[in-house]
Amino acid sequence: MPAPPRPALAAPRPAALALGLVLAVFVVDLNLPLGVAAAVPYTFAVLLALRVPAWWFAPAVAGLCGVLTVAKLELAPERGTTEYWKILVNRGLALFSIGMTTVLGVLRRRAEIARRRAEEETREHLAALAHMDRLHAAGQLATGLAHEVNQPLAAIGLQAEVAARLATAGQSAALAACLEEIAEQAQRAGAIVKALRRMTAPGDAHAAAVDLNEVARAVFRVIDWEARRAGADVQLQLKDSIPAIWGDRVQLEQVVFNLVLNAIQAVAGTAGERTVRVETGAAADVVIVTVRDTGPGIAADDPDRVFERFYTTKPHGMGVGLAVSRSVVEAHGGKLWAAKEPGGGAVFSFHLPAERGD
Ligand code: ADP
Repeated sequence: MPAPPRPALAAPRPAALALGLVLAVFVVDLNLPLGVAAAVPYTFAVLLALRVPAWWFAPAVAGLCGVLTVAKLELAPERGTTEYWKILVNRGLALFSIGMTTVLGVLRRRAEIARRRAEEETREHLAALAHMDRLHAAGQLATGLAHEVNQPLAAIGLQAEVAARLATAGQSAALAACLEEIAEQAQRAGAIVKALRRMTAPGDAHAAAVDLNEVARAVFRVIDWEARRAGADVQLQLKDSIPAIWGDRVQLEQVVFNLVLNAIQAVAGTAGERTVRVETGAAADVVIVTVRDTGPGIAADDPDRVFERFYTTKPHGMGVGLAVSRSVVEAHGGKLWAAKEPGGGAVFSFHLPAERGD
C-alpha cells in the first residue's frame, strides 16, 4: 500500500541499442580474419536485449547472433595463418557464451518477475487488511457517528420550522440568522458523512502534499464523540506551520486514527486521569506526530511487539491496526515506533520526510 511514486525519467530504448550492436559486431567480424574472436561481443547485445520487456526478444536476438556467428564462416572465410580446428573452437566458444548468457539472463528475469509478483501480492494483501481495519473501526464508531449526524439534522429541522414562522412574520434579519445556522449545521453533518465515507472507501492510493495538522484535526472531528463516551480528554497540541509531507491523506488519517482510537481505548479502562495528547512538530527535514496517553501502558515487555500482525490484548481486537499503520508510514519513507511513558501510559510517534517543495 505504498504512496504512489512520482513520475520517473523516460527509459532508453534497449531494443534499438541491442540490434545496433548486433549489426556493428557483425560488420567488424566480417572484416577481420577468422582467427580473431570477434563474435564474442555478441553477448553484450544479448545482455541489452534482456532489458526489453517482451520475453521472446532476448532469445530471438541470441538466435540471430548465433546464425551470424556461423554465417561468417561462409561469407568471409579468410583465416590467415590460423588452423581450421582453432577457428571452429573459437566460433564454438562464442556460441557457448551467447547461449549461456541468454539462459542465465532469462532465468534471472523469471526470478525477478516472480519476486515482483510476490511483492505485489503482499501489497494487495496489506491494502485489503487496511480496508478491513477501517471498516472495523467505522463499525466501532457507528453508534457514535449516527448520534453525531443526528444532532445537526435535528437542529436543521427545528431551525427550518422557526425560519418558516419568521418568514410569515416578515422578520428578515432573524430569518437570515436562522438560515445561516441551518447552513452551518448542514455543513457539519456533511463533514461527518464525508469523513466516514473516506474512511470506509477502499480507494486507490492518491499522493499529494499533506498537512499533518489538518490530518490530526480531521481525525479529532470523527473521533470526538467516541472520546466523550469514553470520558477521555483528547487534546491537540499542533505546532503552527509545519512543513507539508508528500503522501496519501486517507492512509495517513488512518494511521493517526488508529493511534488515537487505541489511546482512547487504553485510558477508558483507567480510574485516574484520562488524557490523550496529539502533538505535531518538525525537526531536521522530518515532521513528527506523537500520541501520548495516561492509560496503563503497553502490556508486552518489548513495545515493538504491538506492531506484529494479529497481536491484540483486546477481547474484540483484530490486531491489525498498528501493523497496517507501520507499513503505511514505512511506505511513505518514515518510521513509527512505540514506547512506555516513564510515569505510566504509552507513547506512539512517527516521523515522515518533509516535502521540500521542488
Ligand atoms: P487492536 O486495537 O485491534 O488490538 P492494534 O494493532 O491497533 O490492534 O493494537 C495491538 C495491541 O497493541 C493492542 O491490543 C494493545 O495491546 C496494544 N496497544 C496499542 N495501543 C496501545 C496504547 N495506547 N496503550 C497500551 N497498549 C496499546
